[in-house]
Amino acid sequence: MQNNYVIFKIPSLSINESFARSAVAAFCSILNPTIGEINDIKTAVSEAVTNAVIHGYENIVGEIEISCRIKGQVVEIIIEDYGCGIMDVEKAKEPLYTTKPELERSGMGFAVMESYMDEVVVLSEKEVGTKVIMRKKINEK
Ligand code: ATP
Ligand code: MG
Repeated sequence: MQNNYVIFKIPSLSINESFARSAVAAFCSILNPTIGEINDIKTAVSEAVTNAVIHGYENIVGEIEISCRIKGQVVEIIIEDYGCGIMDVEKAKEPLYTTKPELERSGMGFAVMESYMDEVVVLSEKEVGTKVIMRKKINEK
């Protein structure tokens, strides 16, 4: 199969979160996923984009780049922001760990991404930004 991908950028406004998750889901539909698989992808994208909006850029509006690439039966989704970055990625990935308990965040975003996707890699550098790479195999019907 040919190299197939889509790349788009959005400003970090929470109103764009539903567009981002629907756009990724629409692209992934090329692989003929089940409703369950599509819902898994939507949920994971939603968590990563929300993190970029709320934590990455906090009180400013920056840019979020979303890319989605199909590699055989595997879809690779990359959500990247150029915001504040994460001090300790291992700690951030722990369930229930949040730096914003006052906003009633539960600290479950990364745990949700990990449970719905096959692989989640988080690359982050303080004051440079955060890149969340997620992969999921869509089973052939
Ligand atoms: P929830 O997702 O349950 O609402 P949460 O966002 O705090 O709560 P996670 O999504 O698991 O929980 O993220 C854990 C922590 O990692 C966040 O509290 C934040 O400190 C940090 N973090 C996550 N994504 C980013 C990002 N894009 N930029 C900067 N910090 C981030
Ligand atoms: Mg979160």
